[in-house]
Amino acid sequence: MLGPPGSGKGTYASRLMTIYGIPHISTGDMVRDEIRAQTELGSRIKAYSERGELVPDETIIHLLTDRLKKPDCQKGFILDGFPRTIRQAEALEGISEIDLIVNLNVPDEIIIQRLSNRLTCRRCGAIYNRVTLKPKRDEICDKCSGELFQREDDKPEVIQERLNVYRTSTEPLIEYYRRANLLRDVHCDNLTTPPEEIVEKIKSIINNAKK
Ligand code: ADP
Repeated sequence: MLGPPGSGKGTYASRLMTIYGIPHISTGDMVRDEIRAQTELGSRIKAYSERGELVPDETIIHLLTDRLKKPDCQKGFILDGFPRTIRQAEALEGISEIDLIVNLNVPDEIIIQRLSNRLTCRRCGAIYNRVTLKPKRDEICDKCSGELFQREDDKPEVIQERLNVYRTSTEPLIEYYRRANLLRDVHCDNLTTPPEEIVEKIKSIINNAKK
């Protein structure tokens, strides 16, 4: 899943995981897990993540390579947040075959709206939005009753930096994968489009690609 921060990669990927029965691998979640667990790696990458900058390629490639070796990935997987640079895309080619890149196109105004209102579950990582995808009970996760919080990098001053990083480092991947004929576009120009509608579009892209 390719797209700017806040384009819905995590929300759609976690739904597709349930539909297709293959793991949703979010390098952002992996980074946050390392930070929370206060590992040596976590302490090295904390500052990058909280400033909205990319973690160095070598580090993230290493993390992802280990993850893709696990048995649950053998039948397939959905990547969310990786690759984010051309260097990572080249590394990925050496690790696994990639069938399809779904490119989420979302205008900046929607992204800013979404990210600044996003709430994340501290326990299971589920994603909510104070305006468009409210939890049933304030600040509490519908799925696991965990506490909802605002990510450090969802604070307004960091959002702009993440968008800049996306434009500079990640957007070139669109051309890279278009040339390889792997890229399919999905458009979402409306803040209130329900996630189910986008998931349906992605499913039909996947089903067409399988033929
Ligand atoms: P977003 O909502 O901005 O897409 P993620 O949850 O995917 O954010 O990632 C959060 C942070 O984790 C990033 O800002 C970055 O610091 C780090 N990160 C995640 N994936 C990568 C990657 N592939 N390469 C470098 N850094 C990454």
